[in-house]
Amino acid sequence: MSGTLYLVATPIGNLKDITLRALEILKEVSYIVCEDTQQTKILLDHYQIKKPLISYNEYNKFTKTPKLIQLLKEEKDLAFVSDAGTPVISDPGYYLVREAIKEGIKVSPIPGPVAMIAGLIVSGLPSDRFVFEGFLPKREGRKRKKLLNLINEERTIIFYESPYRIMKTLNTLLEILGDREIALCRELTKKFEEVLRGKISEIIEILKKRLEKEKRIKGEIVLIVKGKEE
Ligand code: SAM
Repeated sequence: MSGTLYLVATPIGNLKDITLRALEILKEVSYIVCEDTQQTKILLDHYQIKKPLISYNEYNKFTKTPKLIQLLKEEKDLAFVSDAGTPVISDPGYYLVREAIKEGIKVSPIPGPVAMIAGLIVSGLPSDRFVFEGFLPKREGRKRKKLLNLINEERTIIFYESPYRIMKTLNTLLEILGDREIALCRELTKKFEEVLRGKISEIIEILKKRLEKEKRIKGEIVLIVKGKEE
C-alpha cells in the first residue's frame, strides 16, 4: 500500500472558487506540494489550513520527484497544487504524475477551476468541440508556424496569453487566420473581470485605445478563437 497523490484544483482568482472536497483534502494530507509556497500560503491562510509545504517546479522537478515518490511509498498522502487553477494544465505536475503512475501509486483528481473552461463558457463561441493550445511560442517565427498549422482547424481554439504579448499575438492571428471572431477573457473571477467579444480587428482597436490611455494591458488572459468556417 502507498499513499495517494491528489491533484487539487485551486481558484484562478476568487478565493471562494474552491470545492469543499479540495478543502477537506488539503486539511487531511501529510504534505501540500506547491509551485510557489508564498502563493499557496495566501490560500491556506484564508482557509486557516496549516500544513507543511514542499515547493515543486519545473526547475527542481528532477531532484524533488524521487523524494515525493518516497513519501508516497511511506503511505503519506500528498496534495499537489499549482499557483492557480488545475495543476498539470500549463502548469507543473506532468512529470510527477508520470513517475507516480510508473510506481503504481494512486493518482486522484480533485477537480475545480481551469481558466480555459471558464473562458470558453463565457466566450459565446462554439463550445461543443474545441482544442486547447496553451501558450503560443514566444518567438515570432515559431508562433507563425504554429498558427499556420491551425489555419484549417474547425474547432474553437483556446490559447493562454500574457498581457505583454497580446497585441502582437492578435496582429499575427489577424494576418494568418483572417478576421475571425474571438473572445478575449481577462481577469476571470477577479475584480476587473472582462470579456471582449468581436472580430480580431475590433478587439485590436479597443486595446489600442486602452494602450494610449493606460500604457499597458493588464491581467491574465484566455483567448478564444472561432474555428475555420466549414
Ligand atoms: N493551471 C491553470 C489553469 O488551470 O487554467 C493555468 C496556469 S497558466 C501558468 C496561467 C495562465 O492561465 C495565464 O497566463 C492566463 O493565460 C490563464 N489564466 C489563469 N488565471 C486566469 C484568469 N483569472 N483569467 C484569465 N486567464 C487566466
